[in-house]
Amino acid sequence: MSRLPVLIAGGGIGGLAMALTLHQIGVPCVVFEAVRELKPLGVGINLQPNAVRELYDLGIGSEQLDRIGLPAREWALVGLNGNDIYSEARGLEAGYKWPQYAVHRGQLQMLLYEATVGRLGRDALRTGTRITGYRNEVDGTVTALLRGPGGERGEMRGSLLIGAEGLHSAVRAQMHPDQPPIHWGGAIMWRGTSPGVPIRSGSSFIGLGTHRQRLVFYPISHPDPATGLATINWIAEVTVDSAEGWKSSDWFKPVAIDDFVHHFEGWTYDWLDVPALLRGADIAYENPMIDRDPVPTWQDGSVLLIGDAAHPMYPTGSNGASQAIVDTRVLGAEFLAHGVTREALRAFDGRMCGPISQVVLRNRGAGPFGLLNMVDERSGGVFDDIDDVIPPQERAEFMASYKAAAGFAVDRLNAAPPTIPPGARVKKAEVV
Ligand SMILES: Cc1cc2nc3c(=O)[nH]c(=O)nc-3n(C[C@H](O)[C@H](O)[C@H](O)COP(=O)(O)OP(=O)(O)OC[C@H]3O[C@@H](n4cnc5c(N)ncnc54)[C@H](O)[C@@H]3O)c2cc1C
Repeated sequence: MSRLPVLIAGGGIGGLAMALTLHQIGVPCVVFEAVRELKPLGVGINLQPNAVRELYDLGIGSEQLDRIGLPAREWALVGLNGNDIYSEARGLEAGYKWPQYAVHRGQLQMLLYEATVGRLGRDALRTGTRITGYRNEVDGTVTALLRGPGGERGEMRGSLLIGAEGLHSAVRAQMHPDQPPIHWGGAIMWRGTSPGVPIRSGSSFIGLGTHRQRLVFYPISHPDPATGLATINWIAEVTVDSAEGWKSSDWFKPVAIDDFVHHFEGWTYDWLDVPALLRGADIAYENPMIDRDPVPTWQDGSVLLIGDAAHPMYPTGSNGASQAIVDTRVLGAEFLAHGVTREALRAFDGRMCGPISQVVLRNRGAGPFGLLNMVDERSGGVFDDIDDVIPPQERAEFMASYKAAAGFAVDRLNAAPPTIPPGARVKKAEVV
């Protein structure tokens, strides 16, 4: 039997975690990344404990994660009037065996990139090479169609193809040619980072405002011991009428702070000056809150979608990157059980596509921020004591149900055996 590599489309968080997982279980692979040079793009993201556990199991520990972020300690919603709506401990403080991390997305990608190059070698990552499509072969292998840095076309044969090229996945477009266009529900986000003094627990994720207009902010660095200032990641969000669809072809474009800060004038509290926080950033990025309608399957023969290519979701649940990482580990476990075969892809698809598509729809329905919709429906946002609007038990049940669906319910996660047992390797005969 030949040892054709597994081909991976996309060197983002999912694609690189896939490469590291395959290397760990002894399966050769090659990653094709469209950009010529990876740069630390993006702003803050959260890694939930279920994903941090998998990174630890991949040998990426707290020492490395502390260089690109910090453990999150609290998740809180605060009404526009400054009154608390909900708060809960996160990570270790919440009883998980693994922390939740707030990190810089681009630095996480660079961390995974360096680990991939260090462990698999430079040849395992072909930058400047875009996957444009694929051909399932009759012998069960697959051919990836490539476009090189100079526009030249090429092909490469692999045992399987994993489409991990994110929201605009070419592999998904071929797999589901009739998929509807990207879905936008009317929320516009402006994202940036500013220096600031961390508040509350010192590492709190705070959603401030209403269901139609809010600011989410949290630190993504430890404070500088000299100044006390940390890098505060923020997302300023406004919902508008989306009937005419998103007008721009830009999905993530740099904008000046003055273009949007007026939406938040007057948002000043004795514990936070929102306009000042926003003005503290050098640059912001505008992007609509978008996802895609779920598809019935992520598999076509020897081809599988993972990460945002499979389940692009609103960031309301802070679990897009986490789910991409978890996908790679679940798939690794299926390779251990079924070999590097279509059967493994089928098993992954059967296990993940339905439940994670439900998370996509749940996030579209506001995810954990749904509490803000409840506040609006019941009180119009006017309240002194949140207990009079949503009783504590109802708030707790709402959040518990979200966490269970997204795979980070504390008891279940703590009790689960490692997704990939230490030292496990796919047997040679099980590779196509
Ligand atoms: C530049 C960038 C910035 C982001 N910033 C944020 C952020 O600030 N906050 C946040 O919550 N989420 C952000 N995201 C999304 C977040 O990274 C993903 O939701 C999550 O990490 C899932 O990862 P993924 O690997 O599935 O997709 P992604 O992280 O999107 O990675 C996809 C990769 O595939 C590459 N690619 C695309 N098309 C092709 C192709 N045809 N062939 C080969 N390679 C291809 C892309 O260049 C990219 O490196 C960003 C994504 C990108 C690409």
